Amino acid sequence: MAGVYIHIPFCRKACHYCDFHFSTSLKTKDSVLNGIHLEALQRKESIADQEIKTIYLGGGTPSLLSSSELENILDAIHTHYSVSSTPEITLEANPEDITDAVVKSWINLGINRLSIGVQSFNEDILTWMNRSHNSTQASSSVKTAQNAGISNISIDLIYGVPHRTPKDWMNELKSAIDLNTPHISAYCLTIEPETVFGKKAAKGAVLASPSAASSAEFIALVERLKDDGIHFYEVSNFSKLGFESKHNSNYWNRADYLGLGPGAHSFIDGTRSWNISNNALYAKGVKTGLPVSQSETLSSIDSYNEYIMTNLRRREGINPKLITANYGVTLSQNFKDILTRYEASKDLLIAENSIKLTQNGFLLADRIASDLFLTHD
Ligand code: SF4
Repeated sequence: MAGVYIHIPFCRKACHYCDFHFSTSLKTKDSVLNGIHLEALQRKESIADQEIKTIYLGGGTPSLLSSSELENILDAIHTHYSVSSTPEITLEANPEDITDAVVKSWINLGINRLSIGVQSFNEDILTWMNRSHNSTQASSSVKTAQNAGISNISIDLIYGVPHRTPKDWMNELKSAIDLNTPHISAYCLTIEPETVFGKKAAKGAVLASPSAASSAEFIALVERLKDDGIHFYEVSNFSKLGFESKHNSNYWNRADYLGLGPGAHSFIDGTRSWNISNNALYAKGVKTGLPVSQSETLSSIDSYNEYIMTNLRRREGINPKLITANYGVTLSQNFKDILTRYEASKDLLIAENSIKLTQNGFLLADRIASDLFLTHD
């Protein structure tokens, strides 16, 4: 099972926390879209032997493209690749772009899943983050999409917002649950240096929530969603049964995927590559044949570390037998003390065929994963 990711690097406004690759200028839009068409053609042999089961239009803000621009991109994928007859096709959409007519046009293009960037239902928080939508649009956009005919919807939420009270967070969760979407993604606010928040933080502003408050919001999130039959299957992803993201599951299963567009990453046959994160240079490079990507072939140690990092964050956890078979590492010997310590602190559940994080362990997922990493020396 393989997937295609297409990165649309344009946004209306720069959200103050965001360090993805995007531009608020649309000056290079036409040349970037031409570049994506060309790149789809140029790289068709790279994944020619595989059926494409998922297509993901991410960004940036792909919903700011017109229906005909989206149609041209999807046509290029269908023309140059062997797409399954029932692909999952996801579009990341921002609330302000969603109208009945637009959603119906997306459905006509075969788009069958939306990931809507709600982030918060609180007007003050949306303004503070510099989002383009307001709290009314946060809810109404989801209802509009549902009424227009798309039920497979995920909404994004952000937790760890400073100064938000537990009561306000519970109100946010109620607003999310009331929309009855089968999938919710929730990310902890992180302050990245090259963002507006990062620059303010460097001058002393307090923009990150204390970790105890973020942890409390995460626990409340897991518990509240569980009450409504929405279970977490990865540290940032929650769904009703059968509505897990196929595209993201593909990444975590280390299946091949092709990334098109500026800043897009690919993973094919054990080699990871990433396109240049510059719109003008990407468009020029694709057109003139200049290289637009760099690549690295993962060593066995890199592959093992990636497996630990991605799979420890999943509900199923890591599989010690598979690790021994694939990477020659016996966790119970190589990491005996670390496993014993985290089991004693009730952060890990250790069984013969799986090692899983407990609910508290998920709060330490990155630290526990890095304690289980192999090093190159
Ligand atoms: S809309 Fe999304 S990609 Fe664009 S700046 Fe905001 S968070 Fe980043």
